Amino acid sequence: MQAIEQLCSNLNAGKENNMTKWECPCGYVYDPEEGDTENGISAGTAFEDLPEDWVCPKCGAQKDFFEPVD
Ligand SMILES: [Zn+2]
Repeated sequence: MQAIEQLCSNLNAGKENNMTKWECPCGYVYDPEEGDTENGISAGTAFEDLPEDWVCPKCGAQKDFFEPVD
């Protein structure tokens, strides 16, 4: 059990780096853990760190339209 708790705390520590998911009005969800590799965004890129000209790969909406997901 202790090993699992240790693993969990390590995972949580890694999530401090703004791994919040963001949802587009069209339903697309940007997951920082996956990034948007088809558009040159590597996995682990926080939404805040996306380039200003990044748009939703599904509908083309700008970042301003996205809402954070709990
Ligand atoms: Zn969209």
